[in-house]
Amino acid sequence: MTATATRVLVLNSGSSSLKYQLLDMHDGARLAAGLVERIGEETSRLAHTPLATGGDTRETEGPIADHTTALKAVAAELAADGLGLDSPQLAAIGHRVVHGGLQFTEPTVIDDAVLTEIERLVPVAPLHNPANITGIRTARALRPDLPQVAVFDTAFHTTMPEYAARYAIDVATADAHRIRRYGFHGTSHAYVSRRTAALLGKDPSEVNVIVLHLGNGASASAVAGGRCVDTSMGLTPLEGLVMGTRSGDIDPAVTFHLKRVAGMSEDEVDELLNKKSGLIGLCGDNDMREIRRRIDAGGEDGARAQLAFDIYIHRLKKYLGAYTAVLGRVDAVAFTAGVGENAAPVRAAALAGLEQLGMAVDEDRNAVRSDEPRLISPEGSRVAVAVVPTDEELEIAQQTYALVSA
Ligand code: ADP
Repeated sequence: MTATATRVLVLNSGSSSLKYQLLDMHDGARLAAGLVERIGEETSRLAHTPLATGGDTRETEGPIADHTTALKAVAAELAADGLGLDSPQLAAIGHRVVHGGLQFTEPTVIDDAVLTEIERLVPVAPLHNPANITGIRTARALRPDLPQVAVFDTAFHTTMPEYAARYAIDVATADAHRIRRYGFHGTSHAYVSRRTAALLGKDPSEVNVIVLHLGNGASASAVAGGRCVDTSMGLTPLEGLVMGTRSGDIDPAVTFHLKRVAGMSEDEVDELLNKKSGLIGLCGDNDMREIRRRIDAGGEDGARAQLAFDIYIHRLKKYLGAYTAVLGRVDAVAFTAGVGENAAPVRAAALAGLEQLGMAVDEDRNAVRSDEPRLISPEGSRVAVAVVPTDEELEIAQQTYALVSA
């Protein structure tokens, strides 16, 4: 790496998508961002925004067969802006990797051995790790000389104590199959808990924070003095809160029942709980904006949307209560991600009636729309309630750069 190499390309590879951002860690500036969707289909689409020049988003449609072709197309777009992958200013590529198991507790420079370990985790993350691995292989092939860093979604949660991470099932079976609670969205929980401490003018080690990451996927975490002590997602991202399309917590016997009584196959149950449950299963919509619109419109349809909303809120309240008990003292509750950052009615409803826990929302503050971290609790509240926009790409870029520039 040359002294002038301060740029980091962040890659987030999904099964049929590739999201990317190019950041300059010299000043944190975002130089370019984009997304390739529907990889492997006839109707693939690449949308590239040259943020450095303030230019318009360029969209290209047409078949992109695989991740290698996708990354080459992204590289061409970046090169057209003078930001190509061959630039000496590029310091590293940071990859989001969903599952790092127990072994990856920190961002890690990728070599063959690391890649093999990530592959060994595929059985516990069959939907996510293969796509991340493809992204890594592709990027390494394009720039074999460049440091590539894996930043794991699970890493922040590896500090959970054993009694929070273990399921109460037969230990030998659990250990043989690596069944335990790993937690996800860790990059976001790490970033938001730290940013919340900064908002309070404190060091992360001084504060206890409950982070509510409410996007299409949703998870809560209890963070004590900067370390995660509990989180709502488990072996997979299915456990915990009610999500856009996932059930969250459920009696595991429901799955036996679906198989034995409803005659569903393993794959059908998997699909039901991951894709056809949560808000979409309850009311047919997984977008909180649409759900609020239906509630406001009233009638029978509004009542159905209201029930979905109420179930979503009830689960959130249960986690707020549980994590208050886990932490003993809560200094802040932080809302983040699509719903948490934008849906004021969700924030108000989740904290309604929790005054005994020192938690409340100021109506006027809650109504303010902003991209900045902000407090929405009334002046003098025992617990600070905050809206803190997450920035997983910046966190990945910072962790990557810290590692390669050390
Ligand atoms: P993910 O990264 O998990 O796909 P996001 O964090 O982008 O999801 O959140 C997406 C969700 O955020 C949408 O499904 C929608 O429910 C919600 N959302 C986005 N904007 C708004 C808004 N203005 N008001 C309410 N909800 C919103």
